[in-house]
Amino acid sequence: MTFTPQGKHLIAGHWVSGTDTFRSSPATGSGADYARGTEADVDRAVTAAEDAFWSYGYLSRDTRAAFLDAIADEIEARGADITAIGTAETGLPAARLEGERGRTTGQLRLFATHIRLGAHLDARHDPALPDRSPLPRPDLRMIQRPIGPVAVFGASNFPLAFSTAGGDTAAALAAGCPVVVKGHPAHPGTGEIVAQAIHAAITRCDMHPGVFSLIQGDQVGFAQALVQHPLISAVGFTGSLKAGRALFDLCAQRPEPIPFFGELGSVNPMFILPAAARARADDIGTGWAGSLTMGAGQFCTNPGIAVIPTGADGDRIVAAAARALADAAPQTMLTDGIAAAYREGQERFAARNVVRPVVTTRSDGRSATPNLYETDADSYLADHGLGEEIFGPSGLVVRVADAAQMAQLARGFDGQLTATIHMDAEDAEQARDLLPILERKAGRILVNGFPTGVEVADSMVHGGPYPASTNFGATSVGTLSIRRFLRPVCYQNLPEDLPIPG
Ligand code: NAP
Repeated sequence: MTFTPQGKHLIAGHWVSGTDTFRSSPATGSGADYARGTEADVDRAVTAAEDAFWSYGYLSRDTRAAFLDAIADEIEARGADITAIGTAETGLPAARLEGERGRTTGQLRLFATHIRLGAHLDARHDPALPDRSPLPRPDLRMIQRPIGPVAVFGASNFPLAFSTAGGDTAAALAAGCPVVVKGHPAHPGTGEIVAQAIHAAITRCDMHPGVFSLIQGDQVGFAQALVQHPLISAVGFTGSLKAGRALFDLCAQRPEPIPFFGELGSVNPMFILPAAARARADDIGTGWAGSLTMGAGQFCTNPGIAVIPTGADGDRIVAAAARALADAAPQTMLTDGIAAAYREGQERFAARNVVRPVVTTRSDGRSATPNLYETDADSYLADHGLGEEIFGPSGLVVRVADAAQMAQLARGFDGQLTATIHMDAEDAEQARDLLPILERKAGRILVNGFPTGVEVADSMVHGGPYPASTNFGATSVGTLSIRRFLRPVCYQNLPEDLPIPG
């Protein structure tokens, strides 16, 4: 590895040390010291971001798109170093990080193409009707305009795609909004090298340096100051329900409340219909185990709950999943804290006498092995805690007697990022009844698949009703995510010599 982190913030084009530092805790190798952000750092970065907005927000779409492409190029130029520090910090395999890097650069380039076309503007025009009676109609044009500086919080489990230059940053920059990132303390070195790539792109494209800042840190004080700063216009957050809710509440309590786009956790229920269970029990059970253990189960789209019919076909699904999970090797988790929280989740389930252990394993330190539990529909509905996310390779089977009970269970779920139906042709009628219920619960509905793996595309929705996310009508993945950082403005009777920006 040729990259050695400096442990500094990047604030408006300057690498800034801190008087106070924290030590990183990588999965392999020794830690390094990183500056701890302060309220003064936040103020400096946000003030520069506001200053940058007055040029960046008014650039041509082509210039902004070229900047996004340049960031992608600069990330690729540092590819090997990013993988080296990313694997050391997170314990994720190199192949996974290389894939995530491709997804991150692909996303930047997709957004560049999207804004070049002007697709994000949603431009509308109602031409003047001067002769309309009884009143003439004015000329009305509407387009979406950028909102101002955006604060971004990335998650530990996607050190690239949901982090420094990840979806929220790419969407805000595509919209025309400068960004201040609160670095994730689980991967500060990865954050720094990606910030270095963005800094290089800023220099190459001659952008205002305030267009991007990264402030490192592991304490909540400066993070709270960031979302409360009067010049911040919106927050993009990916992380836990607990932290997301705390920051959402702070945004709502500001003298000027601002939108908080929190993408939070989910248990992503799968509904296995009877004919599918009969025809493909082994495949469904084994496929579920594979999805559940991918990346040590540390995906927001991890299918933590499978709703399975009672009877022999359902038993075969559970047995197939149990066989596959019992064979799974231990995997390294992202942080010691996440590994500890996973074990606490296991203890919560073990303490409930309505939950039957199917596969129980013990893991130590920062490693995790899978666990599988089973309960019945009535017990599930009576205990809200059973529907809470356990971040890691943990699955819960909920057995249902019939279609009515499956529908009742579906109605009881909280908001989800995804919901999945496994069905065969004979299940179509039951699936038709389930679909309207699931539509009200989830941002993405899958048939005969597994929800891990989120395509970055125009049609993707990665969001959902609370608590999957804190907002309705938005997605944090795909080109529609750019909309979160835009606001519609209607221009009435603007003369030709006062052109509309954008
Ligand atoms: P996290 O603990 O919520 O941390 C996210 C960020 O918030 C970190 O920078 C963290 O910094 C900060 N933070 C935590 N508590 C805070 C507080 N009270 N005030 C201000 N800032 C605070 O989440 P994580 O462990 O990184 O990620 C795992 C979670 O993310 C899982 O629940 C997973 O399902 C979810 N996730 C969701 C999506 C999605 O798209 N919906 C994608 C990936 C992950 P400090 O550590 O310094 O406090």
